[in-house]
Amino acid sequence: MDPSMSVLVIVHTESDGALATPALEAVNAARALAQQLATPFHVGLVGAVVEPAAAALGTCGAASFRAVAGDAFAQARYATDVAAAAGIATAVGADLVIVPGTSRALRTAGGLAQRLGGVADTHVVGVAASAGVVSITRWFYRQRIEGTMSRTARPWVIALETGTTPAWAGAPGAGGVEAVAVSVETRSAVTGVRAPSTGEQTVRPDADLLLVAGAGWTKKQADGQVHAEAAQSAILGFLRASKASLGGSKSLVDQSGEGQAVLPFMTHLNQVGQTGSSPRHRKGLATCCHGEEPHVIGWRFVTERRAVNLNANCGWAQGKADVVYVADAFAVMKKVNELLGA
Ligand SMILES: Cc1cc2nc3c(=O)[nH]c(=O)nc-3n(C[C@H](O)[C@H](O)[C@H](O)COP(=O)(O)OP(=O)(O)OC[C@H]3O[C@@H](n4cnc5c(N)ncnc54)[C@H](O)[C@@H]3O)c2cc1C
Repeated sequence: MDPSMSVLVIVHTESDGALATPALEAVNAARALAQQLATPFHVGLVGAVVEPAAAALGTCGAASFRAVAGDAFAQARYATDVAAAAGIATAVGADLVIVPGTSRALRTAGGLAQRLGGVADTHVVGVAASAGVVSITRWFYRQRIEGTMSRTARPWVIALETGTTPAWAGAPGAGGVEAVAVSVETRSAVTGVRAPSTGEQTVRPDADLLLVAGAGWTKKQADGQVHAEAAQSAILGFLRASKASLGGSKSLVDQSGEGQAVLPFMTHLNQVGQTGSSPRHRKGLATCCHGEEPHVIGWRFVTERRAVNLNANCGWAQGKADVVYVADAFAVMKKVNELLGA
């Protein structure tokens, strides 16, 4: 037991008071770290309502549940979120503060460390302790180099990337919550939410499957024509039927951004690759995408990979996919959608 080392995980509750998967992953990571350090861990909850979350974590083994709750903490807002997190971390006297790598928590991770007089690391994909030394793992140079590092400075705020740790899935229990008093003055009011894409929600980080659409969908086909409408219905039909997440190559999302009448639901949020995102999905299917290295680097965390391409010498066929179907993606996806009943 190292009573001098105190581990805290701080998570935000959803509008119904429950915890989303990234929060449950952070709790599990803090729990495992505390076990390795043979020290207790504490849970900090922030949101409008926190009791359902505390009950859901009732058997996770936390030494205490501290909460900053109320309407002022319902919405993501830097001033309120950082004050709440700092209040909880100070009440616990935390040395190690784990937060999920959500946009909400990431916005305040640096400010939290500054208020506590500590340090912060983000995009962490693993945290572990050995012989009392805590180390983190993260990727550098666009996921090409994996590094392990340690720090002596405390408090240490560690933002854990989502999808890198199993989520806590234990039985609920009675999680008594200790309220932490935080006084905040808000000068801004949240009047509504405007989503980045006014159309369909196509980025689904929790989906089992990633469908990637490449620029081939908007290129002239064998008949010399562009078939944008057929492309749109093939892609959206598949997404609706399979609940897959939609990724895009840079070439395709750049076209959409330039206002061409191609796939209007494609935005830069969908871009996968070196200058895009590196999503985590169990399976991936690339369609009409060449599979060039700057794109495929974004598939680092996609385990099973397949591609449909007319070109038998495309990048996917150069050892980048497990299976390549040399076929017309329009015909393949039409047939797949028929089989799915889309
Ligand atoms: C510094 C740098 C950073 C970059 N970052 C990224 C990045 O983050 N993400 C990214 O995606 N790219 C990135 N790129 C660009 C990348 O190198 C490629 O240019 C891009 O990925 C190509 O997109 P694409 O495969 O969709 O298009 P294309 O290269 O035009 O390929 C289209 C493919 O569609 C196929 N096709 C056409 N019709 C059909 C059909 N009916 N059925 C089946 N297949 C068909 C063709 O055979 C072709 O292979 C970057 C480049 C640089 C230099």
